Amino acid sequence: MKAVVFTLGCKVNGVESASLLHGLKERGWEVSDELVPADLYILNTCAVTAEAEKKSRQAIARIRAAAPHARIAVCGCAAERTPEIFAGREGVFLVTGARQKGEVLDLLDAACTGVRIDEADKVYDEMPAPQSPKTRAFIKIQDGCNNFCSYCIIPYLRGRSRSRGLQSAAAEILSCTAEEAVITGIDVSSYKDGEKDLADLLLAVKDAKCRIRLGSLEAGVITPRLLEAAKQIQDFAPHFHLSLQSGSDAVLKKMNRHYTGEEFLARVELIRQHFPDAAVTTDIIAGFPAETEEDFENTLALARRAAFSQIHCFAYSRRTGTVAAKLPDLAPQVKKQRLHRLMELSGQLRAEYEGRFVGKVLELVSEEQKGGYTVGYSENYIRLYVPGEAHGRLKVRALRPFEDGLLAERV
Ligand code: SF4
Repeated sequence: MKAVVFTLGCKVNGVESASLLHGLKERGWEVSDELVPADLYILNTCAVTAEAEKKSRQAIARIRAAAPHARIAVCGCAAERTPEIFAGREGVFLVTGARQKGEVLDLLDAACTGVRIDEADKVYDEMPAPQSPKTRAFIKIQDGCNNFCSYCIIPYLRGRSRSRGLQSAAAEILSCTAEEAVITGIDVSSYKDGEKDLADLLLAVKDAKCRIRLGSLEAGVITPRLLEAAKQIQDFAPHFHLSLQSGSDAVLKKMNRHYTGEEFLARVELIRQHFPDAAVTTDIIAGFPAETEEDFENTLALARRAAFSQIHCFAYSRRTGTVAAKLPDLAPQVKKQRLHRLMELSGQLRAEYEGRFVGKVLELVSEEQKGGYTVGYSENYIRLYVPGEAHGRLKVRALRPFEDGLLAERV
């Protein structure tokens, strides 16, 4: 999807338009500052002279001639002075002034999605810690997202990324009385408290009494520094959930994901150098708009090379207001069939990974009693079934495949 920011007037308008172009690019738009055919236009107007105002008004007609069905947002000085002249024009869906330019993208987001992000949504909202459950506590350290994956509505709903203070986040993890704490957020990878990042938070909780698991991560956050910090934690669950979404570079680009398949694999390799037995799980979307059979085959091949221990599979679902929603959708049966193939592969990879642990001792944290078994997850996220009723943490030996995991016995 293409967006144009067309500028009239002074250098300041030019600088502000450059910021708008950058913000649109971040949101996954292909951008231009020339009047070329596009889906969305932001017209940054000028009112310094009557002639400049006239040119600003005429620009609407020029845009309509280049792209009769495009949506047009108008900002800048002429729009501030005479908004009614622009508001009545065909194709114009948003008119803001010269004073609100910092907000133009937020207003655009709101106009596209119907959701308005307030200033209050740009600061981390510190809430009281919930009471620790016995088994697994999800500890929130971050909210919002700046990634604007083209299929995702979350950045429009939750606003930009903001993080909880390191001291407060670490205190909740260190005082957690559950058996396991899962460090969670919308985009945990972007965690920042001043100069401190996720690796610093891990170092701050290295003496936690409970098992520490990381929530979903972006591949880019996997660095030797982060992995070394994870190794310092006394009781770290060697399980990394890295969202892949697609193994095709062309699709990743359309998704506005900022890595290639090979770059993603390099991060998986780095994990395995530090944690050879780690579980690496992922999310993949089947049937993204314009995904070809070859793109999908590339995804399957990459998933095999990454040797994921589990794939959370989703069929692409259009979210109104996102950039991808404007792309032509694939036929439902194509999406369904690809989803099915992906789930099959997930089952095979899970069985291969779990097979490596038959005969080995693992530590289960009990989560539920089911059909005469104590059921829970191991440190490397294998679902384990142990006969009889037990609670808390158990050392067990894995025996054989069973249900959606492994049967095990207490040792
Ligand atoms: S998919 Fe995740 S990383 Fe991408 S925009 Fe949505 S919340 Fe952010």
